[in-house]
Parts: sequence; C-alpha cells; structure tokens
Amino acid sequence: MDAEQEKRLAENLATVRGRIANACRRVGRDPASVRLIGVTKYVDSETAAALHNAGLADLAESRPQELRQKAPATPNTIRWHLIGHLQRNKVDKTLPFAGLIHSVDSVRLLEAIDAAATKLSRTAKVLLEVNMSGEAAKHGFAPREIAAVAETLQRLTHVEVQGFMTMAALEEPEAARSAFASLKKLRDKMSKLWDQPLPELSMGMSNDFEVAIEEGATMVRVGSALFEGII
Ligand SMILES: *Cc1c(COP(=O)(O)O)cnc(C)c1O
Repeated sequence: MDAEQEKRLAENLATVRGRIANACRRVGRDPASVRLIGVTKYVDSETAAALHNAGLADLAESRPQELRQKAPATPNTIRWHLIGHLQRNKVDKTLPFAGLIHSVDSVRLLEAIDAAATKLSRTAKVLLEVNMSGEAAKHGFAPREIAAVAETLQRLTHVEVQGFMTMAALEEPEAARSAFASLKKLRDKMSKLWDQPLPELSMGMSNDFEVAIEEGATMVRVGSALFEGII
C-alpha cells in the first residue's frame, strides 16, 4: 500500500458514501440508517487495515478461514462481519472473530452457533440468509421456510436474530429490486408474527446497493466499488 493507493482508497470510500447518501435522499431516508460494510475478500490484511484507517468501521469476509486470518492481523477497532457460508464444524473457531454472521442458512447451523456462543458465555448476533431468487446454487432459507424457524429460536438462548440477508441474482440492478422489496415484506411479516423487531436488512452489493437502499437495506456489503484502481 503506497500513498497513492491510500489516496485512491479514501476517494473510493467517499464516492461510495456519496452514492449511499444520494440513494437515501431519493427515498427520504437518513444516511445514518445505512451501514456500509467493506468486503475485503479481494485484498490483503494491509489493505483491509488501510480501508479501516480511511474511516470505515465495518469490514466483512465471505470465507471463514479468511476472517480468521485477517481479524487478528488488523486493528481490533474493526467490527468484522461474516457474509459467506459457514460449515458447522468451523463455528467454534470462527465465532470469536465475527461480530455479526449474515449467512445463517440452516436450522442446524443456528443450533451449532448457539452451542458455541453458550460455551463462550456470549450472545451471537446473526442474520438469516434468505434465497429470494430461488437459484439452486445459492445458500439460504427458502422464504416459505422462514416462519418455522421460530420454533428453533424459542429453544435457543445464545443467539439473537437481528434480521435478514439476501444476495440478488447477478443481473441488472433493477432486476434485483423485487427481490429486495420481497425480503423487506418478509421481514415486516415475521417481525409481527414473532413479535420482535428484526431491524436489519443486509442487501445490496457494488452493482445494486443503491436499489437495495431504496428498498430498505440497513446494511450494504460493498467490495469491488471500494477497491477500484487498487486491485
Ligand atoms: C463478494 C461479496 C459481496 C461484495 O461484492 P461486490 O460486488 O464486490 O461489491 C457482498 N456480499 C457477499 C455475500 C459477497 O460474497
């Protein structure tokens, strides 16, 4: 990371923040209601730390192993998110590094996280990943499976579900709009049914985060737009 690259990183961050603010303005939302999460899977620990130093508090990895390598090698002021598939046998060693797990895609994983959190005497914060596009290659609960997760949640004492996450199909940003709107509807419905707030909606990546914000995202997971000209 040279000074030129650090400058570019700061500029990219400002550009993305500006785009977030514009999207918020279009739909009358407060920009402070959208958390930008920098996805560092394309870069090394040094670059991730530089992004944090440029002013970004929240960073994410999609691979548990990468998270376990980067988190200890970067400033402890970073709030790390896990946004990709987690295997049950990796929960114990991954949980200590993950402030929020966005990618809980099965009841058995939820149970494993609860058990690991109990051992650590903490509460694990999670989002349930929902496969809105129905693509077989994607992880996540089917929308119609979500309601029944409540039965499991009632038994678990050390997980807190803060909301839902989805990945749109890689199409035109406008094509993702209905998936995002449907996830928000699902959240509103489950929030009533389960009688709990479920405030977080993690949706939107580099090519569709503005549409996601217009449809209610509270967390956007942005990677490539932050590293343009650097990688
Ligand atoms: C890689 C990744 C992102 C960021 O993607 P970009 O298009 O680079 O912004 C967001 N969410 C998940 C789950 C990812 O794996």
